[in-house]
Amino acid sequence: MSIEQRKRPAELDLPSRQPLAGRTCLITGGSRGIGRGIARELGRHGATVIVNYRSSETAAHEVADVITESDTEGTAHPVQADVTDRNEVEAMREAVQDSFGPIDILVNNAGITCDCTFATMTHEDWHRVIDVSLHGTFNCTQAFYDDIATVDDGRVISISSVIGKQGNVGQANYAAAKSGLFGFTRSLALELADTGATANCIAPGFTRTGMVEAIPDHIRDDLHAEIPLDRFANIDEIAGLVRYLATEESGYITGEVIDINGGIDL
Ligand code: NDP
Repeated sequence: MSIEQRKRPAELDLPSRQPLAGRTCLITGGSRGIGRGIARELGRHGATVIVNYRSSETAAHEVADVITESDTEGTAHPVQADVTDRNEVEAMREAVQDSFGPIDILVNNAGITCDCTFATMTHEDWHRVIDVSLHGTFNCTQAFYDDIATVDDGRVISISSVIGKQGNVGQANYAAAKSGLFGFTRSLALELADTGATANCIAPGFTRTGMVEAIPDHIRDDLHAEIPLDRFANIDEIAGLVRYLATEESGYITGEVIDINGGIDL
């Protein structure tokens, strides 16, 4: 049996524009690690990417240059702001809106760890971690809320962690911050629903970045041993999921916490 080879009619040709062309995305903590991977992935798919950073100025400029100089429609622009500081976030919002107008997609990625058992955890250890992940997410989402609610297909994507679901010895502060993002996301999804915008959360497992490299070898080996797929995640795998949530295709997914962890909690 032969299969007739049919030529695609010209009017059905796929659009040549990239899926995120014309969309403006802001990624908090886009200078390094997962945030850098997300910035590159969204840029590769045509977005205008705002690369937020706190202190890694050179790294943020490097990632922005790589995106802008690549052979895609994507461009990128670094912008400094500590997400824990409402005044700096407000100044970032003004600068971004002056140059690019409203943003379409906010990725709340900035996060830190400050590991110690609960018995030894100081008030400062607790607050530093909660401040970046939770207060930073509050500050940025509130600053850009009107943009997200007003544009077509607005998106808020927050990067949580498998630790938010499982907890972990030495990470009560981090687990609290990361599981806080689950309830935040579900509530935000409900409040945004009548605007057509979505809010989702990604809960990655261990991913090779500076954050994981900082874990002592013997603990990292123990963590690795618990992963059914027998490896840590690649940054590109996390970034690919963010890109999917950022595109129009994902428009009926909202309020979800999506695991990407090699089967660690099966
Ligand atoms: P890295 O330590 O590699 O990078 C952290 C990024 O966050 C940097 O770009 C840093 O910017 C930025 N950042 C930190 N504090 C602030 C702040 N106050 N204001 C603005 N930016 C800030 O971390 P990862 O890439 O590993 O982690 C990224 C996210 O993914 C975090 O939310 C983390 O909790 C989460 N995650 C990571 C996992 C992993 O295994 N790596 C697993 C699950 C979740 P700068 O350098 O300029 O300070």
